Amino acid sequence: MISTAQSEQPGINRRSFLGAAAAALSASAIMAPDAFAQSREQIRKGTANHSADNPGPVNKALQAENNSSNTPPDTDHGDVSPFWYSFELSHRRIQDGGWTRQVTQKDLPDSKDLAGVNMRLTAGSYRELHWHTANEWAFMLYGSARITVLNTDGTIFIDDVHAGDLWFFPRGLPHSIQGLGPDGCEFLLVFDQGTFSEYQTFLLSDWVAHTPPSILEKNFMLPASAIRKLPDDEEYIFPGTVPGPLEDDKRAVGGAAVESKISYSFRMQSMKPTFEDAGGSVRIVDSTNFPAAKTITAALVTIKPGALREMHWHPNASEWQYWIRGSGRMTVFVSSEKARTMSFNANDVGYVPAVAGHYVENTGTEDVVFLEMFKSDVFSDVSLNQWIRRLPNLMVREHLHLDSSEIGRIPDAKDPILPR
Ligand code: MN
Ligand code: MN
Repeated sequence: MISTAQSEQPGINRRSFLGAAAAALSASAIMAPDAFAQSREQIRKGTANHSADNPGPVNKALQAENNSSNTPPDTDHGDVSPFWYSFELSHRRIQDGGWTRQVTQKDLPDSKDLAGVNMRLTAGSYRELHWHTANEWAFMLYGSARITVLNTDGTIFIDDVHAGDLWFFPRGLPHSIQGLGPDGCEFLLVFDQGTFSEYQTFLLSDWVAHTPPSILEKNFMLPASAIRKLPDDEEYIFPGTVPGPLEDDKRAVGGAAVESKISYSFRMQSMKPTFEDAGGSVRIVDSTNFPAAKTITAALVTIKPGALREMHWHPNASEWQYWIRGSGRMTVFVSSEKARTMSFNANDVGYVPAVAGHYVENTGTEDVVFLEMFKSDVFSDVSLNQWIRRLPNLMVREHLHLDSSEIGRIPDAKDPILPR
């Protein structure tokens, strides 16, 4: 084995005339890289010596949840910006009727396309009537809500949404969200502006509080006694009354004559998966199956324990993730020898720059469920496996040093979730 290695390395061959003692020396020189690699692995894991010890202060809860940063794989390298944050670290604004918190570009400075909000409304409580500068995409995490949105032609959309459903509200159109029985709702909102703040929306109460009463009298054609009843401060989230049946509300506002021709809600969780196999499933909702969502696209991904969301990238947009369930890790490769691995758990947010290579591995014992979201009208990704399998065999052999039978084992069709 040693002589074979020597014959392949001219530098060692030149030394072979030095005799047996030198051959033994060169043998140790050949073994050295492997031995070094092993010891580096042992050093990293703390089994070789004390190099990985951490005798100073430790936030044990954070360290346990972020093992991929604390003990990264040897293949991680270079300075990669953080692409993990958690709603658990965000300030929670709690009011009578519910609460809200947000993760924006302030928390993930590289994430300029999308920002997210997590909100809870108790039964009957409102997210006040409002509108804003960004488009709004939402996923129901728990319970039920009644939503309304007004079109510029005067038609209105009213619907009840439940856990697993989503909605899309175009920017500028006024809308409402109200928790229904028995226990209200909790949901994720995603806006197509990285700097969007949920605390800077246009509120109905805010506007009337900042309009001269004489103007309000003329506009509403109401007497001063009525105008004095209007709120004089913003309400934002506040308790209300659980409404009656949806059909009663629709009829009461004018029925079919004023009903929106556009649907702004979609049953995402109950749709047939776009891809499904033993490793998990992917449900893609974009403008091709939900025409209202012209600027935000999403994939609801389930990964079984040990399975892998395959190595891929997105040619058209950065990715904003919301982790609903489970635990896993993601390595993001940003070119120039730079790659970083971070751990993810429920209620965490992940970010992947546009075209950056990545995978998501379920490292836990329960299913990983997460949302991939993009500021785009269509979902688009490139599969590393599919790319390799579409190339001439010789080209792949000469790049990756694999033989033909090995190349033939790489999945041929795009398979977003690979079983363990
Ligand atoms: Mn809104
Ligand atoms: Mn992705």
